[in-house]
Amino acid sequence: MLQRSLLRWYAGHQRNLPWRKKRDPYWIMVSEFMLQQTRVETVLPYFERFLKLFPTLPSLAQASLHKVLKAWAGLGYYARARHLHQAAKIIWRNFAGKIPSTKKKLLSLPGFGPYTAGAVASLAFNRPEPALDGNVRRVLLRVHGLWKSVPRNRLEKILEKFIKKFIPAGRASDFNQALMELGALICIPSQPRCPSCPVKNFCSYQRGGDKGKKRSGKKIRKEVWTVALVEQEGRFLLHRQEGKGLLAGLWQFPIVRVNKKGDAGELKKVKELKERKALRRMLQEKFGLRIKIKGSLPPQDHSFTHIQVTMKPFLCSVVRLSSALPVSKNVRWIKPVNFSRYPISKAMSKIAALIPDPPPREATSG
Ligand code: SF4
Repeated sequence: MLQRSLLRWYAGHQRNLPWRKKRDPYWIMVSEFMLQQTRVETVLPYFERFLKLFPTLPSLAQASLHKVLKAWAGLGYYARARHLHQAAKIIWRNFAGKIPSTKKKLLSLPGFGPYTAGAVASLAFNRPEPALDGNVRRVLLRVHGLWKSVPRNRLEKILEKFIKKFIPAGRASDFNQALMELGALICIPSQPRCPSCPVKNFCSYQRGGDKGKKRSGKKIRKEVWTVALVEQEGRFLLHRQEGKGLLAGLWQFPIVRVNKKGDAGELKKVKELKERKALRRMLQEKFGLRIKIKGSLPPQDHSFTHIQVTMKPFLCSVVRLSSALPVSKNVRWIKPVNFSRYPISKAMSKIAALIPDPPPREATSG
């Protein structure tokens, strides 16, 4: 029986991950938010650090967003941190601090889609709910040879229905984790390790059925950002990104997204002249600054989920201010030595690392 083979294999091969040490709904919720689109190895140090800072749900609910984003800085996809924080506040306020155990209630919280709600309900509360992440989806598709035959828009429903029938009574938590683990360790995307697989006798792919034709992946968009390192007396202009976008809530250098939709061919055609002009205009309009571009620094590449960005940094100095030097809750002049006090994305940290050291002060005689 597939379930028995899988559970037996999981008992002997599961990785020793911190959120598996005890079935704590808060730990599982935090880990599931962190693991969205992110590898386990990347998440591990962040998870440990996050729990030291916010050991319980009330401590997270009562923390400032600034502090939460700071703890998340470097992990990427910052909407997850904002949603996790909002969800903790709602649970604290509306559910007496207890994480709801049903998928329906979990789905009412920010940041909970069908996967995260299913994962928390099953992993933390042993509810027989499917948790279809990329790994589980791949295993099920291969086992049942559904690669070609099912239209994409119906696939999710079919897999959910199918897996619900398979979850063994009282073992939802272990079963879902076993499927996730199988996809992560054995049924890997390009070269599945079929000879070592505990469910090979039940697998259509292994029997030479539909040979796992890969469905088209998500499209990666390429963008070029020009980044202004505006310096004024040893401090640099940073602002907090407002709204709900990619880097919302984080501090960053002013940027212009030069061509949001360009492909590789188009990117080459973007002229530096245009970039400089766009940067000057943005700094004038948004911050009331007239700047002089002193030079450029080496471009840096950074990948977000669906965007591959080439960042082109320019060192700038202030020529004239149209009003007072802009400083507000969301705009500051910050010394490089103090950058670490602010939640700054990994992408912007790469740019900050390029800032040249100030020239040594001339020794005064006498
Ligand atoms: S037998 Fe191979 S393809 Fe089938 S589930 Fe196992 S690893 Fe994946």
